[in-house]
Amino acid sequence: MDLAHTPEEDEFRARLRKWLGEVLPTLPPKPSPDEWPGRRAYDLGWQRRLYDAGYADVHWDASPTMRLIFLEETEKAGAPYVGAGFVGLLHAGPTIAAEGTAEQRARWLPPILRGEEVWCQGFSEPDAGSDLAALRTRARRDGDDYVVTGSKIWTSHAEVADWCELLVRTDPAAAKHRGITWLAMPMDAPGITVRPLKTLAGSAEFAEVFLDEVRVPVANRVGDENDGWRVTMVTLSFERGTAFVGEVVACRRVLRELAAEARENGRWDDPVLRRRLGRLNAEFRALWRLTQWNVSEAELSGGMPGVGGSVFKLRYSHARQELYDAAADVLGPESLDLDRPWVLDRLSSLSYTIAAGTSQIQRNIVAERILGLPKGR
Ligand SMILES: Cc1cc2nc3c(=O)[nH]c(=O)nc-3n(C[C@H](O)[C@H](O)[C@H](O)COP(=O)(O)OP(=O)(O)OC[C@H]3O[C@@H](n4cnc5c(N)ncnc54)[C@H](O)[C@@H]3O)c2cc1C
Repeated sequence: MDLAHTPEEDEFRARLRKWLGEVLPTLPPKPSPDEWPGRRAYDLGWQRRLYDAGYADVHWDASPTMRLIFLEETEKAGAPYVGAGFVGLLHAGPTIAAEGTAEQRARWLPPILRGEEVWCQGFSEPDAGSDLAALRTRARRDGDDYVVTGSKIWTSHAEVADWCELLVRTDPAAAKHRGITWLAMPMDAPGITVRPLKTLAGSAEFAEVFLDEVRVPVANRVGDENDGWRVTMVTLSFERGTAFVGEVVACRRVLRELAAEARENGRWDDPVLRRRLGRLNAEFRALWRLTQWNVSEAELSGGMPGVGGSVFKLRYSHARQELYDAAADVLGPESLDLDRPWVLDRLSSLSYTIAAGTSQIQRNIVAERILGLPKGR
């Protein structure tokens, strides 16, 4: 592991910090979480600013260390998060960059970087979540198209997406991990119905997606037919390995704000609360070190995040919930007021131990692939 920064990396950090200092005060106010068209425009607008300033491709073309510096500086400065760009920038894009053909990279990557197109992820189905390879959405070949029929669920941002990274079953006779194919499906194709699902926090973050004889060109297939499980592992390694990294910095900022609020409202006098905040501070510092370790490992192994991402995802998602539980104690009765800071974040933190693979599944991965324990039945 090598955590020393090169002069180029230090220069990059200083330049980015200066640019953020100039640009952030000029941004319009952030739309509320239930205002979808406005949120899409805001998130894509921020991506466009990054593109114009030469920072847009940091998620793919830069080294893992540069990417980490970018995430650290943007979060520290309180810059907007990727938002609706989450799937495109953090896992569909990196997958296409790693596995797509030259034509596919030329078609799909620039609009993601320029903040012009939103992607969603059509992996989970009503009976295929943790056991993703049990997916049943069927695609049959018809000339130059696949004809896709089935349904997806929990598809984040489907309502406003232009493209979907879609997993389909192309060979029902093959063993379940073998007959899967990874497709890029245009969300305006005939036969797609999107039915939004409301979250506990009141926003329509995700949706059910029904597919009825949807035609997807064979040219939109990433990887070979029936080789989609291997491509999926690439997508998931980005989703679990790097997609949540910037949030650790944000959590450390929240922790400092919580301590300030507790001092202000008198709850700092409670030694149990002080101890909790202190332990969380140590926890997030350790998670940041773990992130640096994972990034350094990725750098040494050619840029791909490894299964260490599962260790991070497992611990981070629980620490995030503990952080916002502590926030509720700092706020006291005001923690029931949805307009107070941290209250909606507390509700959404509940989903972190489920999204991108549940904690039980991460534990299985850590047990089998890192500790080498025998596979469960
Ligand atoms: C906020 C959020 C956003 C999401 N966004 C998307 C998205 O954009 N696209 C998408 O495709 N999906 C998305 N998902 C779905 C997510 O990937 C699934 O919810 C997750 O994989 C779990 O699947 P499931 O809900 O079907 O639960 P199940 O798989 O039915 O699991 C139910 C329970 O059983 C446990 N369990 C299951 N199998 C095992 C096992 N082998 N060992 C031990 N325990 C086990 C699980 O841990 C869980 O506690 C999102 C989910 C959330 C919460």
